Amino acid sequence: MAKLLEGKIIASKIKEELKQEIASLKQKTASLPVLASVLVGDNQGAQIYANSQKKVAEELGIEYRLEKLSDSVTQNELIDFIKQLNKDSSVNGIIVQMPLPKQIDYKLISSFIAPEKDAEGMHPQNLGKVLLGKAKISPCTAKSAFELVKSTGVKLYGKEVVIVGHSEIVGKPLSLLFLEEFATTTVCHIGTSEAGKLIEHVGRAEILCVAVGKAGLIKGQWIKQSAIVIDIGINRVEGKVVGDVEFEEASKRASYITPVPGGVGPLTTTMLMKNTIEVFKLQKL
Ligand code: NAD
Repeated sequence: MAKLLEGKIIASKIKEELKQEIASLKQKTASLPVLASVLVGDNQGAQIYANSQKKVAEELGIEYRLEKLSDSVTQNELIDFIKQLNKDSSVNGIIVQMPLPKQIDYKLISSFIAPEKDAEGMHPQNLGKVLLGKAKISPCTAKSAFELVKSTGVKLYGKEVVIVGHSEIVGKPLSLLFLEEFATTTVCHIGTSEAGKLIEHVGRAEILCVAVGKAGLIKGQWIKQSAIVIDIGINRVEGKVVGDVEFEEASKRASYITPVPGGVGPLTTTMLMKNTIEVFKLQKL
């Protein structure tokens, strides 16, 4: 039976390290990091994320400044707002909450956040640094999934890693983090499924990370014996939150598995704070 990889437990260890780092930065700079969080409209999911980020930020001594904008804000108005935050020297980090209303292009907005204030790690310049290796700022969810794998103590060199999902926010940057450690990394997506090859790739994964958003996409019986399974998917099924992997069946074969909820999610917020500290250091040290 697989051991559970609980994000909360790993997050609490990392939070202790971050608290110490913030205390020493306070001594050096006589200031504390400030994270501006831009919330557009009243999407319930985005509000829940923002609330939990506020809680973690305050626990660590980071000021969390919630900036609420109307649902009807235009793309240009949002860009102007971001430009003001870029100029505001009292703000160190910026995050724009997802999902955004239809009229807003998230990729475009990310490119207007000053790279030295980009707490999400989604500015093209910061994504480029992930490609070049050893980036200090990288997309929070990818970083969280990667930390969970590392927490098992597994040696990544030469391991078969399979990632299902190739989004800019999760799958692509996560593949680069694994490549940096010389894991043999395969990225699957809708094309892999439609070619009927998903089962074959999943079946040879020693480390499997799934970020698709389809409940039960990955059958428990596909999982290789003793694999490490990181389920990043979030799906609502009959009022319950579940991942993309059939949890019960996969648990019988995997050596480690993330629960959903309670796996990647709780650590992602801590990774956002880690990025916030990195951008603060870029500006202050
Ligand atoms: P996305 O919609 O941008 O990308 C989905 C990916 O899945 C694409 O690569 C697509 O080709 C692939 N895909 C779709 N159908 C497929 C199929 N049948 N077989 C194989 N691949 C298929 O998604 P995203 O923004 O990366 O999010 C993915 C999931 O991760 C969602 O459930 C989202 O809620 C979740 N998520 C969780 C966190 C967290 O902190 N836990 C953060 C971000 C996203």
